[in-house]
Amino acid sequence: MNSFEFRQPDTVEEALTLLHDLGEDARVMAGGTALVIMMKQRLVMPDCLISLQKLRGLDRINARNGEIQLGALTTHRAVERSEVVRSRLPSLAETYAHVATIRIRNVATVGGALAHADPNQDPPVILLALDAQVGLRSTAGSRQVPIGEFFTDYYETVRQPDELVTEVVVPVLPPRSGSVYLKFLPRTADDYATVGVAATVTIDPATGTCRESRIAMGCVASTPMRAPEAEALVRGQRLTPELAREAGILAQRVTDPISDARGSADYKRAMAGVFVRRALEQAWQRALAAV
Ligand SMILES: Cc1cc2nc3c(=O)[nH]c(=O)nc-3n(C[C@H](O)[C@H](O)[C@H](O)COP(=O)(O)OP(=O)(O)OC[C@H]3O[C@@H](n4cnc5c(N)ncnc54)[C@H](O)[C@@H]3O)c2cc1C
Repeated sequence: MNSFEFRQPDTVEEALTLLHDLGEDARVMAGGTALVIMMKQRLVMPDCLISLQKLRGLDRINARNGEIQLGALTTHRAVERSEVVRSRLPSLAETYAHVATIRIRNVATVGGALAHADPNQDPPVILLALDAQVGLRSTAGSRQVPIGEFFTDYYETVRQPDELVTEVVVPVLPPRSGSVYLKFLPRTADDYATVGVAATVTIDPATGTCRESRIAMGCVASTPMRAPEAEALVRGQRLTPELAREAGILAQRVTDPISDARGSADYKRAMAGVFVRRALEQAWQRALAAV
């Protein structure tokens, strides 16, 4: 690890000014679970480390106007255990509960997971299926970016070096909706996924058919990705086992995975199809059971 200056601002404004003044020479640290490893491997060598630990107000979970706002410094464990999240968007709490181990979840943060932008992570996949928005702030102002436009490549996002991720805003699903995140873990329970798939489904009560569906996949490309053809196939239909299987086939066609220790590219592509089918079926069952 290189030597670096360590700064601990007390306020968000102070942190933003430091980021503005130091630019690409600085890195912010939230939980440090990803950053410290990258620094030890000398993949990242900042001159200055800006700790976000003392900042107040960025670790809150709020529900208002049909949305859930997760502050950037909210830990994975806090999302997993939040009554607000568990009652309004159970699939979101379930996804954070699938990340690594309790030790990691106790320190890893919502904002750190987004800024890190490893395409093998779990939360970005459900956030994509739920159509979340990422809140960014710099000394110049604030902006919200749809999560579908946030990730650009392996470990790359549209975030500028002087911007902090401040929150992620997740719309609550309409009535008669179901959502689910499935993590395929053939090795150990605390591993990264071989494939992660999230699906949301909203049923039209008048017709009993699918009014809206979103399918997102992780570990199958350089960023988390949607499966638009599969979503279009399901819209306007009643989900049957055949339709779910067909949607899985369409979804796996748009994947572009790499071979690694968690499986060959062909295996991941095949598993993406299987898990899209299962996720759709489970989201559908949840939508049928929802009021
Ligand atoms: C052993 C291990 C197992 C893991 N397993 C899983 C897994 O199964 N599933 C999974 O999804 N993830 C897994 N992870 C990844 C983990 O989720 C990330 O390390 C974590 O989410 C990063 O959050 P953090 O708060 O620790 O970020 P940090 O390590 O502090 O930061 C990560 C990056 O984000 C930047 N950053 C942090 N916060 C902000 C902010 N608010 N604004 C702008 N930039 C910011 C930092 O500068 C850095 O570049 C694992 C990690 C470890 C170490």
